Amino acid sequence: MSFGERLSKALHDAETSQSELSRLLGIRQPSVNAWVKDKNQPETKRVAEIASALNVDAGWLLDGRGDGVGSLMTATLGKFVDNPSDNSTSSWAVENDLQQTGAAWQIIKREQQEAPVRVGVICEQLGINLVEKLGPDSLCGSIVKDGDDYTITVNSMHHPNRQRFTIAHELAHYLQHRHLIGDGVVDDALYRSNLSSKIEREANTIAARILMPDHLLEYIGAQEEDDMEAVALRFGVSRQALALRLGQITFD
Ligand SMILES: [Zn+2]
Repeated sequence: MSFGERLSKALHDAETSQSELSRLLGIRQPSVNAWVKDKNQPETKRVAEIASALNVDAGWLLDGRGDGVGSLMTATLGKFVDNPSDNSTSSWAVENDLQQTGAAWQIIKREQQEAPVRVGVICEQLGINLVEKLGPDSLCGSIVKDGDDYTITVNSMHHPNRQRFTIAHELAHYLQHRHLIGDGVVDDALYRSNLSSKIEREANTIAARILMPDHLLEYIGAQEEDDMEAVALRFGVSRQALALRLGQITFD
């Protein structure tokens, strides 16, 4: 298979259009089309971003090695990662095997410069529609795919902190589980859906990482002298979400 054929297969498997990928990478659609048509090939650095966005192995995408199946949490980018995750030694740091690479994570990282992290702005910049809608208490939110468009709906009856967590949770499905979304995923009050509980736990973990990045946890944790209540307030999250992020509890 040529590079273009592998990219075409990866796009198809991830149910991602060329224009959607170009938007994720922040480039023009004809560039993606030229790669698919084998008229041009992206830089190695860019291949890692594409692989991460489409959840395939970067080595496979680059030269056909391996089977092209990326693991959910650890897209094995190996040496192709130009921006390895930080090796923070903060007491707030928790074990992390999530590769925060790819164009979408670049957008998220820009918004993670200060707390509270603006999840609505992240949706906007990723081209995801965000809808606030009155719903029963038993429903947190959903992510629905319509053509090339994704819509996240959040229950406007819930506390603003809960809404922020829900949006981050649905964003996690978009980032990490796009190939599993199908026509849509609806999360109940306990973030359970038609997806497996393993996938849902993963989405909660990623949501907490979106809302509370390492460097801000370290900074704000020190400023507030590790006062959990005060730290949660600064992040606009619940105590429970903060505890989840710190590995003190797990959502099940
Ligand atoms: Zn979910």
